[in-house]
Amino acid sequence: MPSSPPNPQLAKRYISYTVDDIARLFGIHRHTVREWIKRGLPVIDKQRPLLVQGADLAEFLRKRRDARKQSCAPGQLFCLRCRVPREPAGWQVVYRPLTATQGTLNGLCGTCSARMCRRVSLAKLTAAAGNLAITTTQAGEHIDECPTPIVNRDFKEG
Ligand SMILES: [Zn+2]
Repeated sequence: MPSSPPNPQLAKRYISYTVDDIARLFGIHRHTVREWIKRGLPVIDKQRPLLVQGADLAEFLRKRRDARKQSCAPGQLFCLRCRVPREPAGWQVVYRPLTATQGTLNGLCGTCSARMCRRVSLAKLTAAAGNLAITTTQAGEHIDECPTPIVNRDFKEG
């Protein structure tokens, strides 16, 4: 299975692709392509088979690739809906220990109110949180699974 992100340059601007075409082009599963459509990859119309314009496909993949490169500045968490690092609402985060030295910071997006999270080592907690107010929960309390690796999930399918 491909371990690197799909190369946007494989998509030819003036060609329309079906879901199958795209799956073949990038060596990925059709489910992954449908997931992209759900997440905002534009289709030409709602007729079947669904067609995606090459230019839209390249643009979509470029944005995804750029989003993946973004890392959180101090005081920012990755918003799962905005798909970019943002400041949490109220400058408040909860630290949930996963192990003795690792945990996640969770908060709510100040922009869209979706859940945000950031994996962090205890040693770097203060640096990562910046000016945020940190509440610590005990391991074993209700823990939101931190789905940060969601950005890589597409490439494990199929
Ligand atoms: Zn957000």
